[in-house]
Amino acid sequence: MRRPLDLRHVISPGMRDLIELANTHDFDRVTEQVRDLRGCTSPVNLHGWTLTTDQTTKEVVRSYRSEDEPSGRLLTTCGNRRSTRCPACSRVYAADTYHLIKAGLSGGKNVAETVRDHPRAFVTLTAPSFGPVHNRKTDAAGKPRPCACGAHHAEDDPALGTPQDPANYDYTGAVLWNAHAGQLWARFTTYLRRALAKHLGMTQKELNAALRVSFAKVAEYQKRGLVHFHAVIRFDGPDGHTTPPPHWATFDALRVAVGLAVERARLIVESDAIGERVIAWGGRFKVDPIRALGDGELTDARVAEYTDAKVAGYIAKYATKNAEGAGTVDRTLLCRPCAGRGYVRGSGPLAVGCTNCHGTGQAEAIQALPIQQHVRQMIRTAWALGELPEFADLKLWKWAHMLGFRGHFSTKSRAYSTTLGALRDVRRAWRVAQAEADRIRTGLPVNDENTTLVTASAWTYLSSGYRPGEELLAAQVRHDIALAEQTKSEGEPWL
Ligand SMILES: [Zn+2]
Ligand SMILES: [Zn+2]
Ligand SMILES: [Zn+2]
Repeated sequence: MRRPLDLRHVISPGMRDLIELANTHDFDRVTEQVRDLRGCTSPVNLHGWTLTTDQTTKEVVRSYRSEDEPSGRLLTTCGNRRSTRCPACSRVYAADTYHLIKAGLSGGKNVAETVRDHPRAFVTLTAPSFGPVHNRKTDAAGKPRPCACGAHHAEDDPALGTPQDPANYDYTGAVLWNAHAGQLWARFTTYLRRALAKHLGMTQKELNAALRVSFAKVAEYQKRGLVHFHAVIRFDGPDGHTTPPPHWATFDALRVAVGLAVERARLIVESDAIGERVIAWGGRFKVDPIRALGDGELTDARVAEYTDAKVAGYIAKYATKNAEGAGTVDRTLLCRPCAGRGYVRGSGPLAVGCTNCHGTGQAEAIQALPIQQHVRQMIRTAWALGELPEFADLKLWKWAHMLGFRGHFSTKSRAYSTTLGALRDVRRAWRVAQAEADRIRTGLPVNDENTTLVTASAWTYLSSGYRPGEELLAAQVRHDIALAEQTKSEGEPWL
């Protein structure tokens, strides 16, 4: 038996733990586990087992127990899509989103390759104005023009997007718009089909029988703190992507219908406290055709503006962001123990105050957040509107840090393309195949097609994060990945 190491003289807890890991029965496996996480910030620690038995022979063909790991647990990636939370997992998410959007545009991953010949548009819809903001305009010749305030704002001027007259800016309207943006989008998709039928002189029923319209969209924050949407819209035949759309379903018909639907789609919000509000799209929207690469006609510079790959890359980038673009915080401000009410039990004079937030209902004080005044005012407005019972369903306390928006960041209609879940399954299957290949090398029995294999497993969550020693290994992994990426884009160093 090995004598326990005396590590008291090693100062760094990370180093001390690393030495401990190096003295377990399989340090190679320790480093392999960390390497497989590809630099994940906060891996999930699991305890449990998986057992695969052959039902005919009752033989165990594969077994795995986390107890057999040198550190006694299995580490898996956190899988967070947000780049502020886990840059490593967010890169995986962005890559998956890219493939999902790309498949919907040019085929692959079970999507027919003929979709590249269907009319496809890249559409951007925006919010209306809630008061003049500082901006950077250029004239037709591309020459910069001064802002209405008289200044020439630099590209990175924090004042950009903020109100010129904060006292008269319609903060209520802006927050309510964000809070209804998801619903307005749903209304838009309904009106789009209606507008299309009207423009083509058909009934809705005739249109639906011959044409399918599919979507994939992402939300993005503008500097002024309002959400806008980028979407891919594609025309398919009656059976989806495998059938060509009818000849009358052209890109031009789509462009006209988008314009009509933008104008028509609106929601009415009624409130005793603030009166009636109309939630509608802004007048600025864009509809551009998406071209498959190598479509010909590339002599016209404008034609090549949106290609399959470019649009997929664009959407993938936004899918890993939340409201960072608006300069807000990336966590809810709602105090969890009291759900924002400020008290935990009872009501009125008998209410028992929440000790977590000292009765404010906020996990962090809004006035102390390290954010710009304009963003703070959006959050304050969301919090104040959250007090009104008529807006209870908008959950404005929970989503105040998102400036009211509570919709999904990326959504798609079922017919558009493959799903992220399917892409993950492919990756999992690949990993299993990989493990199988390893077993062939080591001479263990291999599954064959005729056996009936049954897999049982039981897993429990232990915690999140690395051991201090593993954290050092993960830092090395991140460094290696960054270096490999740099080499890929810049070439090998000279020396
Ligand atoms: Zn992660
Ligand atoms: Zn200005
Ligand atoms: Zn509280």
